[in-house]
Amino acid sequence: MLVIYRQEDGGEMRIANSFAIARDASGKIIRKIDSFPEQWEVVSDANDLRGFRQCFDERDRLAARVPPFFADCPACNKKVSAFLVQGSLENLQKGEGDVKLAHPTNDPHEGDHTWILNDPQPKARLRKLIEGSFAV
Ligand SMILES: [Zn+2]
Repeated sequence: MLVIYRQEDGGEMRIANSFAIARDASGKIIRKIDSFPEQWEVVSDANDLRGFRQCFDERDRLAARVPPFFADCPACNKKVSAFLVQGSLENLQKGEGDVKLAHPTNDPHEGDHTWILNDPQPKARLRKLIEGSFAV
């Protein structure tokens, strides 16, 4: 998945840094360090590891709260089993802010596809689905 760090710069949020990270089969977190040819390194810095683990934990936590649902991925141009990106569940419930979806491609070259859900109809459907999953 892609991790993007933003920082404020003259009142605007700018992308400070971004990493493509993945977990290999043994659960180690790896980071893409080069694209041509593609190279990955095992993340060993304690601070980086902690931050990246939080990203995965947050994603897993959301995935546990929201059942997988089908959505149209603009990159794949087909229906995929998607999940909500960090913060999007809250935005969806509040009815404001970006609702971002993602799905893993299972290809470390591509990482996750992420996109913003703009259409009101699928948005409403998704909100219903989520409210349903929270109802006891
Ligand atoms: Zn896709």
